[in-house]
Amino acid sequence: KIFSGGFTKTRKNLAVIDELLLYWNLSDTDRVLDELEEALLVSDFGPKITIKIVENLREDILSGKLKSGTEIKEALKQNVLDLLTTKVSKTELQLGFRKPAVIMIVGVNGGGKTTSLGKLAYRLKKEGAKILMAAGDTFRAAAGDQLEIWAERTDCEIVRAESEKAKASSVLTQAVKKGKELGFDIVLCDTSGRLHTNYSLMEELISCKKAVSKVVAGAPNEILLVLDGTTGLNMLPQAREFNEVVGVTGLILTKLDGSARGGCVVSVVDELGIPVKFVGVGERVEDLQPFDAEAFVNAIFS
Ligand code: GDP
Repeated sequence: KIFSGGFTKTRKNLAVIDELLLYWNLSDTDRVLDELEEALLVSDFGPKITIKIVENLREDILSGKLKSGTEIKEALKQNVLDLLTTKVSKTELQLGFRKPAVIMIVGVNGGGKTTSLGKLAYRLKKEGAKILMAAGDTFRAAAGDQLEIWAERTDCEIVRAESEKAKASSVLTQAVKKGKELGFDIVLCDTSGRLHTNYSLMEELISCKKAVSKVVAGAPNEILLVLDGTTGLNMLPQAREFNEVVGVTGLILTKLDGSARGGCVVSVVDELGIPVKFVGVGERVEDLQPFDAEAFVNAIFS
């Protein structure tokens, strides 16, 4: 079952809505919608989206289109689903036809970049792809060691910096060249994630992007931004900045298993118009799931 284990806390926050709607009647509409609004805000849907949803529901209730609590609940789910699907289409990885495909994983330290890269390697390998990892976080020595552990765990090869002074872009160039020569399907590139306000990180990411495009035309095929789901709406400014500077093609939202702020998924998609491609719902290799808007809506409003 998709999203099993994930979103438990968010679902618990939103369960109050079921009770509200069970006893809903027309004369109670304002109070019920106020409480519904509160439940959405607590789950970090954000004020803009919350107001949009609540006002849509109010209109349809007052016009007589929604006549029962069950209908209101279904309309609520449909509203959220629409928000998740109208601005974005493809949630599958777009890897092009040239080999190797290159996926850059970006994001600030601690968000779950390396873990997500490892889990993604596990998933893609299971689908039959030959995976090469590239340790592009040359800034933190421990980052390379951590990725090496994931390479062992998933039985993938890895390219690491040969010296401490190596530039991230040269490690990635070397990895993608090796991938091309030895027939790898996908090169998964880790990158540095020191504070995003530090402009040199953004410069470094841009130079990494240029470097891999020189080895394989069209690369990187995907730039996946990893965002920490426990930060809720606070992830938005960070996501905007990465997107403006580097150009993000997809999002990976992590730690949603421990977060009661799952509504931020809807806000981030609506604000940025970038698809969520995967969600992290735990720390095991299997705990990265492709994002499916319908399954998500069913999981949080079950
Ligand atoms: P990085 O600095 O961005 O590379 O972050 P890491 O990959 O080192 O992850 C930071 C911490 O978050 C680690 O302890 C991970 O085990 C944990 N983590 C990453 N993704 C998830 C997730 O989806 N769920 C949970 N519960 N923990 C996660």
